[in-house]
Amino acid sequence: MSDYLVKGMAEEFIRFTGVNSRQTIEEARKRHNLSRLATAALGRALTATIILASDLKNSGDLLTLRIFGDGPLGGIVCSAGNDGMVRGYLLNPEVELPLNDASKLDVGRGVGKGHLYVTKDLGLKEPYTGTVQLVSGEIAEDVAYYLYYSEQRPNVFNLGVLINPDGSVARAGGYLIEILPGAPEEIISTLEKNLGKQQSLTYQLQQGKQIEEIIQEVVNPYKIEIYVKKPVGFLCNCSREKLLPHLIGLYSEITDEEEIEAVCHFCREKYTFLGKEIKEYKEKNT
Ligand SMILES: [Zn+2]
Repeated sequence: MSDYLVKGMAEEFIRFTGVNSRQTIEEARKRHNLSRLATAALGRALTATIILASDLKNSGDLLTLRIFGDGPLGGIVCSAGNDGMVRGYLLNPEVELPLNDASKLDVGRGVGKGHLYVTKDLGLKEPYTGTVQLVSGEIAEDVAYYLYYSEQRPNVFNLGVLINPDGSVARAGGYLIEILPGAPEEIISTLEKNLGKQQSLTYQLQQGKQIEEIIQEVVNPYKIEIYVKKPVGFLCNCSREKLLPHLIGLYSEITDEEEIEAVCHFCREKYTFLGKEIKEYKEKNT
């Protein structure tokens, strides 16, 4: 099944967004040649970015999630609009680490200590950026903390990436459940009780459950109503025209017939330019 996002409500106080993102993460894995650890880390970050960006109001708005920790994976950068299309990369895609004490991929150690930044470019003069310290580097916990402290949105945030023995992505997804202001105590305690009984999201995805079924189990006995369902995927908006301006620094070092290869950070797409294209661009634009 193709990847998709669902949004909806349960009662009047529970708002949710869920994403099935297996193909999106598999596309990222292939493009960036990600290790297992890097697939889990970037996969969680990409899924989180789709969820956060789905709340943007206008079609040109852009949300960028940056996770800068001191761990061996290096920085992670992902961006998406509200159309469900996401792109992203991390600095050291080849890094592997031993499994953690729970026999899981050690994303927390891979990311390390540092900060998470969420930038929203809403087409105004200055983009807005919110920052929090990383709680664990496991990403879901860090994004939950960001939403709570930076945007005052009490929430449950969960992300899961399950990897096959050959390194490909078996299942991936995530969800955000928000408790809206004025919610009766009873709703909060019901959700807390349900969450206490739940297995990890990765385990539930492995059981073949769809993301909306998993959300339903968190909010039982309240019934979920889905208002939006739409496709999501990995898509980069790079182009030759956008990359060319970044190459004018090479101007003095190249000959007309020399071929320069430029690679997009976000999607690893390769573009080839002739020296004279770069020179002509510089002459026209400086
Ligand atoms: Zn690209």
